[in-house]
Amino acid sequence: MSMAGRASASLSRRLRQRIREQGPVSAGVFISEALFDPREGFYATKDPIGAGEDFITAPEVSQMFGELIGLWLAQAWQRLGAPRPVQLIELGPGRGTMMKDILRAARAVPGFAKALNVTLVEISPALITVQAQSLDQAPCPVHWRATLQQAPKGPGLILGNEFLDCLPVRQLVRQGGNWHERLVDCGPDGGFCFVLDPVPAPASVQALIPPALREAQDGALVEVRPAIATLAEHLAERFAAAPGLALFIDYGPAQSEPGDSLQAIRAHQKVDPLAAPGSADLTTRVDFAELARIARNAGLQVFGPVPQGQWLKALGLEYRAADLMRKHPEQKARLARQVHRLSDAGEMGTLFKAIAIAAPGTPAPDGFAP
Ligand code: SAH
Repeated sequence: MSMAGRASASLSRRLRQRIREQGPVSAGVFISEALFDPREGFYATKDPIGAGEDFITAPEVSQMFGELIGLWLAQAWQRLGAPRPVQLIELGPGRGTMMKDILRAARAVPGFAKALNVTLVEISPALITVQAQSLDQAPCPVHWRATLQQAPKGPGLILGNEFLDCLPVRQLVRQGGNWHERLVDCGPDGGFCFVLDPVPAPASVQALIPPALREAQDGALVEVRPAIATLAEHLAERFAAAPGLALFIDYGPAQSEPGDSLQAIRAHQKVDPLAAPGSADLTTRVDFAELARIARNAGLQVFGPVPQGQWLKALGLEYRAADLMRKHPEQKARLARQVHRLSDAGEMGTLFKAIAIAAPGTPAPDGFAP
């Protein structure tokens, strides 16, 4: 705890220095530095994921999550014509838990595990160490890359759970009929504060505003995520060259909405996003309508988004739970809690959504049937 406090105090000093020299930075720059500064970033230096840590994700809630995704992937692989090898690429794999559960389920499908070549796209050295431990018994080769662009080409299945929500956003505020970027400046007492750029944002940044929000009323705040376009272009290129399918699961609305969604979580509590950069997870909700629109504009086909609860139930969450309860009656209450957590509306069931992206003409994957 004192280590983290000391570390982020120094990151704060360096950020303030940079702002004094170069002027206020975009929210995206602040987020990147807070999460991925190589020395003191929240992800770069420690493993924050799990019940006793800072936040918990679906794969850490239950092994059923990764197992169902493993069987979903096996289906998808068969529909692609069962290519061998097939690249299985996970973006932001965290502790490696989901991949471990995927590979356990994959072994049950003849030929699938043996066909897999796994690449984990991760930039946190601390989490790479944890992933390597989680996957030391993997039934197939496992490699690490810093970006999706560096992953092997060829037929591919691409996944990301709670990956898109940590890609940095920029925030724009409508004022006097114009859009101004909300920036982070030095505040009093060694802290930070938000300021509005007095100059309207350049056309290239305004072009990222979702069409439905371009004429929002004065005072509205809109978040844009520049990395989504790069991701969509890369997927379009990949899937034009070789068959493939991408699956993203994350939290956010199905329709574009204005509003500041930047949130900081430390030890399962919401904290001030600008206080002590490097000491809390910073995420923003994913605009699924915008993700779908950008992917379609890149020439891709989009399935969903479908609420996570509905999607997991279509994949057989309740059957899998009943099966495990029969085998381990003493675990019944725990498994019921996990199903509730993953799929109920008040929990992760509706806020979280699954979306699949593929080349045009690809048949609907499981759980995405119209
Ligand atoms: N998928 C995991 C972890 C989610 S946390 C789970 O569900 O538990 C986000 C993960 O994405 C972390 O592993 C983080 O280090 C990684 N990450 C975030 N931005 C990244 C980027 N630009 N490139 C590579 N990895 C990134």
